[in-house]
Amino acid sequence: MTYTTDVKEILKLLDNASSEDELLITKAYEFSKNAHEGYTRYSGEPYFIHPYETAKILAELQMGASTIAAGLLHDVIEDTSVTDKQIEDEFGKEILFLVEGVTKLGKLRYHGSDRYIESLRKLFVAMSQDIRVLIIKLCDRLHNMRTLEFVPKHKQLRIAHETMKVYAQLAYRLGIRRISRELEDLAFQYIEPENYKEAVKIIKQKSKEGIERLDKFRKSVQKALVKEGLTTAKTDYRIKHLHSFYRKLESKEFDADKIYDTSALRVYVPTPTDCYRALGIIHGIWRPLPGRIKDYIAFPKTNGYRSLHTTIFTGDGSIVEIQIRTPEMHREAEYGIASHVIYKNNLNETENKNLLWLKNLLPSMLQTNHTTTSEPMTDVPNWIKDMAELQASAHKDEFAHNMNADFFQKRLFVFTPKGDVVDLPIGSTPIDFAYAIHSDIGNHLHSAKIAGKMVSLDTKLQNGDIVDIQTKDKSKPSVKWLDMARTSMAKKRIKDALEKNPAPKINPRIK
Ligand code: MN
Repeated sequence: MTYTTDVKEILKLLDNASSEDELLITKAYEFSKNAHEGYTRYSGEPYFIHPYETAKILAELQMGASTIAAGLLHDVIEDTSVTDKQIEDEFGKEILFLVEGVTKLGKLRYHGSDRYIESLRKLFVAMSQDIRVLIIKLCDRLHNMRTLEFVPKHKQLRIAHETMKVYAQLAYRLGIRRISRELEDLAFQYIEPENYKEAVKIIKQKSKEGIERLDKFRKSVQKALVKEGLTTAKTDYRIKHLHSFYRKLESKEFDADKIYDTSALRVYVPTPTDCYRALGIIHGIWRPLPGRIKDYIAFPKTNGYRSLHTTIFTGDGSIVEIQIRTPEMHREAEYGIASHVIYKNNLNETENKNLLWLKNLLPSMLQTNHTTTSEPMTDVPNWIKDMAELQASAHKDEFAHNMNADFFQKRLFVFTPKGDVVDLPIGSTPIDFAYAIHSDIGNHLHSAKIAGKMVSLDTKLQNGDIVDIQTKDKSKPSVKWLDMARTSMAKKRIKDALEKNPAPKINPRIK
């Protein structure tokens, strides 16, 4: 298989890169290419193609040069002999921080139990610390999903589920629709292959008859807007992505004719006021379907989405959804949080700016949730509400600190060596951890290791610790454990075991 890489392909995707940006990206490109030399992927292609493609997705998102460089380098520490010291010497602290962040997130795994899904998502956010780390990780996953067919069959399904439940959800909640849609469709194909084929078939049918008509209609809308003075209005259309189409199909008892937004016409005008004007012009000519007019400009969706929606009778017997927005709203709708990431060389400043945006995003999510819109917003996850409430009372400098210190201090997330997440209260010890996995493991706990090092059983666990428990058939709980355990569940199990199996009384005389 031939596949060529060229740093120019990355650079030409960037709207306004300085010559320094280009130098940095080129340097990271060469460095990563050398480091991965000789390694191949499951597909048999050179490994470097993966970081290269990841960097291209980041460039499409218009991420900054440091983020793109980190994307090129994201697997270098994990997969090659390059050390973190070398990355720091060559590229500085900021890029090392990003690369290490992505490497850390790579250790988190979903193993099929829904119990930990929400904590896993939280953990991704908490552990990335800087939103850019999370965005690199999403692009990394997107390229891995695009090439999932080459991965051994037994791994495909786990990766697809993880993508659907963790990554696509995170991308959606961060408003990066461009990525969440593609992740969902790719995962859908592996998780429900039959349904996927069905969706492809129906959508093809529907759009084949529709597209010509739609394009004709698009031209009349364009003409009408220009005639009324919106001379810079632009129009195009989009086809609904397969996974959401299929879920909608299910909810409409598989009657595809009841889905009005399989394809939608898009109108782009310069300002929000123009959006309302365009809506007025359109309604003046074509009759709207009652109950389908949605003002997501006044009431943005929970993920920050803004647009005006209306569904109209075109007059030739069809019904079309129209979405009206400014170019800025469009960019936000497609790229969400990524469209707001400001990059600078100073790490702390960047971090604060990124979090500031998150801070601005959160209250609007909350408000939307409390206002009455035509569609009640019920899907704001609790953890986002918690964060929003938390930040509402904080000064801006405190926000970053509070988000980690306060919100995540109530719970502790630690891992099994396989990467399963265990959610415990602060102050928990390896004893709590062992009982949280299984009472048998607790009852036969012999020793514990954190990150490969033996620790005493009263060690307080820290966020992100990987805890490895050793059991022995002969080991059993002692009274001392009651003081070391923090969770009531562990204490109860220890008491039960002690009652069943009282410690032998030592005869003082023999002693
Ligand atoms: Mn990777």
